Amino acid sequence: MKKLMILAFCLLGVLSARGQEQKEYPKPKGMQPRHTEFWLPQPPVITPGSFVATVDMPVSGKVKKGQPATAPATVGASDIYVTAPSDAIVLFDGSGLEEWVGPKGAAPGWQVADGVLTIVPGTGEIGTKRVFHDFQLHIEWSEPVDIQGESQERGNSGIFLQGRYEIQVLDNYHNETYASGGAGSIYKQHAPLVNAMRAPGQWNVYDIIYEAPTFKKDGTFRTYPHVTVLHNGVVVQNHTEILGTTEYVGFPHQRAHGDGPIILQDHGNPVRFRNIWIREL
Ligand code: MG
Repeated sequence: MKKLMILAFCLLGVLSARGQEQKEYPKPKGMQPRHTEFWLPQPPVITPGSFVATVDMPVSGKVKKGQPATAPATVGASDIYVTAPSDAIVLFDGSGLEEWVGPKGAAPGWQVADGVLTIVPGTGEIGTKRVFHDFQLHIEWSEPVDIQGESQERGNSGIFLQGRYEIQVLDNYHNETYASGGAGSIYKQHAPLVNAMRAPGQWNVYDIIYEAPTFKKDGTFRTYPHVTVLHNGVVVQNHTEILGTTEYVGFPHQRAHGDGPIILQDHGNPVRFRNIWIREL
């Protein structure tokens, strides 16, 4: 009997929440995008590490013990990347977009050529067919060398975790924008700790560790989602609390949801991606 009553209460809670979702409530008036754009403090600009090739130590030879045979050579950052570990789900390895869909389930409109995925502006976002809970995501992205626009209009894209929480992708190299909208930000919530951008044409790397939220009966967070982001090997978000959806206009919303896809944003700029893989945690 007691169990039945608890079940009935739970059911009532769900039904009343659904009723609220369907009902039209007044929306806040007069909210402009600029009301949630904070420019100060700007994240400090740093230079991320480079890819360095070294040679094996000779067993015996002409070099001094403990010294490399030659000085480490810096190699082109565009030429080297680490492939997916054996337990990862490969989302894009350069060969095709079997793991992805476009808007409304259509085939993705983005271009795949030479092992690289490029946004075709105007074709809409693409998202994974699979949905995820907690995960580690690796994704590499490169900004157009043909520099156009400034602030948010330069090389903008984004990575939406569980389809709703955006980690910003932006050409933030010698291009200031509001701090909470920079590369590595949780869009309009948390600025990155530093700006670790590589120049346009080079490859940036994000390693994103995400912990999904849990919900109360009313759909708000019981435990908030958290995210750690490394940008080119540098921590830019350190187990940061995500406050809700990453809105362009207005404040974050909290709504109950299940597992969700990784969505890549089409913001009208031909940003390139490669080597995308994910490990479920
Ligand atoms: Mg964006």
